[in-house]
Amino acid sequence: MICYIGLGSNLSEPSVQLQNALDSIKKEPELQLLKVSSFYQSKALVLSDAPPQNDYINAAAMLETVLTAEQILQRLHKIEAAQGRERNEKWGARTLDLDILLYGESKIQTETLTIPHAQLQYRNFVIHPLFEIAGAIDIPGLGDLFAIAAKMSWDALNKLNKYTHAL
Ligand code: AMP
Repeated sequence: MICYIGLGSNLSEPSVQLQNALDSIKKEPELQLLKVSSFYQSKALVLSDAPPQNDYINAAAMLETVLTAEQILQRLHKIEAAQGRERNEKWGARTLDLDILLYGESKIQTETLTIPHAQLQYRNFVIHPLFEIAGAIDIPGLGDLFAIAAKMSWDALNKLNKYTHAL
């Protein structure tokens, strides 16, 4: 199964957090890292009465796996926890956030998982990295990623360096 994940961090050297998360994914025997997008810098989404937050670094990665979506989520939580993520308030700053964006062509809605990831089509820091590595794929329930990316703004989003570690 091909699975796309989103990575984000805005604390403790965000680029290093992403690199470390990608290295951890590579070490998981049942997750094969096939592609990684460039890193992108984005402004944090904050609630109107909340203090400002550091910018985020975001990226997307393409994995091949035999695991179920639920099993992938467990692996991602393990990696988040190993990098000091505390699961706190919903919109709070975070050392590492790993989300399952797409799991093959599945639509999944359970207590623990919404796939495609909720609000994915509204977030430029998800759509642009995903389009960079996935191209014109069909997103279940949402349509052609090319069309979504073409209409998506680049507001407060900056494409940075390419991920340079060997896959
Ligand atoms: P977050 O605070 O953004 O990391 O979200 C935490 C919770 O979102 C997780 O414990 C998951 O159960 C739930 N969740 C729902 N859909 C997804 C998804 N597609 N990828 C990752 N987490 C998800």
